Amino acid sequence: MSDPGWFRALVRLVGLLLVGLAVSPFVASAARIVINLAGGSQGMPIEWSVAWLAAPALQLGFGVYLIAGGGMLTRWCLGRVQGRCAVCDYDLSGAGGPVCPECGAPVPPPPARGAPGPGDAAA
Ligand SMILES: [Zn+2]
Repeated sequence: MSDPGWFRALVRLVGLLLVGLAVSPFVASAARIVINLAGGSQGMPIEWSVAWLAAPALQLGFGVYLIAGGGMLTRWCLGRVQGRCAVCDYDLSGAGGPVCPECGAPVPPPPARGAPGPGDAAA
């Protein structure tokens, strides 16, 4: 399968999973801060509550980023896929020119048969 649509769908699905798993701890941590600020909790210092909020907040942010398509991360991953423009992810099959017809980025020539690919270790 050369079309990266499945990969983009998977990225969004992972983002949805991250958001789903982060909502509950985020709300709980935010509620703990509100209760602490209202003077209702004497157990945990407010600094700890804020620190406990940071992890689910980061997870929520990254999840939303992935749901929105993952931008740079997705382009970086798909740029390693043969036949796609590394800059704009345009499908280069049949394009044949030295530059991407969509964004004008230079297109590296395809490796010769039997030549090591970009992921192969040098001997
Ligand atoms: Zn391009």
